[in-house]
Formats: sequence, structure tokens, C-alpha cells
Amino acid sequence: MYAMPANTERMILKIIGILHERVKDLRITIDMLAQAAELSTKFPNWFGKPIKDVKLAVCGERVMKYRNMVDQWGIFALQIAGHAGLLLQIAYGHWYHWVLTALVYFLTSCLGMTMTYHRLLSHQSWPAPRWFQILGTLCGIYGLTGSSIAWVAVHREHHHHTDDQLDPHSPAHKGFIRVQWLSMFETPNPRYALHLIRDPFHQWLHRNYLLLHLCIMVIWYCIDPMLLLCMYLTPAAILWNAGSFINTLTHMTGYRNHDTRDDSTNIWWLGYLMWGEGWHNNHHHSPNRSRFGERWWEFDLGSWLIDRIRLPR
Ligand SMILES: [Zn+2]
Ligand SMILES: [Zn+2]
Repeated sequence: MYAMPANTERMILKIIGILHERVKDLRITIDMLAQAAELSTKFPNWFGKPIKDVKLAVCGERVMKYRNMVDQWGIFALQIAGHAGLLLQIAYGHWYHWVLTALVYFLTSCLGMTMTYHRLLSHQSWPAPRWFQILGTLCGIYGLTGSSIAWVAVHREHHHHTDDQLDPHSPAHKGFIRVQWLSMFETPNPRYALHLIRDPFHQWLHRNYLLLHLCIMVIWYCIDPMLLLCMYLTPAAILWNAGSFINTLTHMTGYRNHDTRDDSTNIWWLGYLMWGEGWHNNHHHSPNRSRFGERWWEFDLGSWLIDRIRLPR
């Protein structure tokens, strides 16, 4: 009987492996395009026009590559400044500086992060009025955790590959330090944010992200350098740490209400600190539900505010 030489066999297996990967890749693209098409019919763009075309992959790649490295290093440098600012404020700040910091933290973490970037733009879990879509996105941009497009793309990829090798912020695979403090170097996959990439408002914010932050810094500095500290740098550093704890700790430790296939958990103090985000196991169990808290002690201010302003379906 004819025996295939070992080299040929290895080569054939390698080719089959490569083809298998390509087919998997293609399937994900088709999935994402189908999802984008579905979203397009549900969500009009920022100028109120329904989005029709679905040939987004190329346009998306271009947008995401645009100044991506500059943005990553820019956010890294600004966050170093933010952490230095936090230490300076601890040393020299007065009580009223901390009141202003708390106010900005609330706007960026509650309105920006959890209500808008996460529950609205990533999961489309609630119908928001137009004024809030704009306000919440601007609060998210101000928080210095990345543009709406970049944040949403990384987050949706996390849901697609939770806790496996392709998860962009799995502490088990990437390590705690990388996920907690260096996640700005994660390159977002545009396929996961096609619905925002085709929107001129989000595209503009993405392209001008660093420029906007430089303008914010110059304005605060000219009014009063202390305002630059307490209304921009310090809240940005606090938000970075609080938000990153959701990516690390709620996949490492805590309790579970649901036996999901991933390692997600709930952590009570993160639930309070991040307005409901800490009930992360509940969220992974039902990602498209706007309410994260389930038990009576699982306080969820984000969901409470959403219920006050949501539009009727
Ligand atoms: Zn998660
Ligand atoms: Zn999510």
C-alpha cells in the first residue's frame, strides 16, 4: 500500500489548517456584516438618515488604521500624566477639588461609560433620545478611555471571544498588568463596530480624538492649571482604573448568579463604584438587557437613569 512521505503529509495538514483558519475568518466577517445590516435597519445614523449599504469592511479598516498607533501612545502618555495628576491632587488638593473630580467622574463613568459606550453603543440595549446619544458619547470621549469606535470594537470582540485566546482583554491569557494598565495598546477590530464606523459623528470623533484631548487640556490650563488637574487628569486616571477592574477582576474573583460558559463574576464594590458595571456575570448572561443588577442589593444607577430617559420602543 502506498505510504505518503511524512513531509508531504505535514504540508497537506498545514494547508488544511490555513484553509480552516481562513474559512473561520470569513465566517466571522459574514456574521459581522449580517449583524451590521440588521443594526442598520434599526438605528439611523446621527443625521437621521437610515444606513443602507453594507460594504463596510474596507472603509472600516481605513478608519481604524488612521492614526491608531498615535492614539495608543497618546492615550498612554496622557494616562501617565493623569496618574501623576492624581498623586499631585492627593498631596495638594482641597476638598472642593475633590467635589469637582467626583462630578466629572460621574459624568464620564456613568453617563459616558456604562450608559452610553457600553449599554447603548455596544449592546443597543435601550432606545436613547438623540440629545442623550450625543451628550453620553461626548462624556465617554472626555473620559480618556478611547474613542467610541475603538472602545465598542474591543468590547464587542470581548463578548464574542470571552475568556478564550482571542479575547482582547482576558486576564487569564494576557496577564493582569497588560489588561489593567496597558489595554490602550489593543488594536480594535473594526468589524465589531461597523455600525459606528459608518456614522460621520463617530468617525469624526475617532479621527480627531487626540486633538480634542489636547484642546481640552489647553482650555483648562488657560483658565486655571488646578482645573486641568481636578477636572480632567485625576478623574481620567480614576476612571481608567475603575473601568479596567471590570475587565480584570470580574473575570477573576467574585460571586456568580449564573452558570455562564465564561469566567465572569459579580463584585459588589465595583457594582457601586461603576454604577452597575460590577454585576458583570449578570451582564454576560444577558448582554442585551439594559439592567445589570438583579438582586435587591445589586444597585444599578445606570439602569435607573436609563429607565427615566429611555424612549418607548
Ligand atoms: Zn466580560
Ligand atoms: Zn458588554
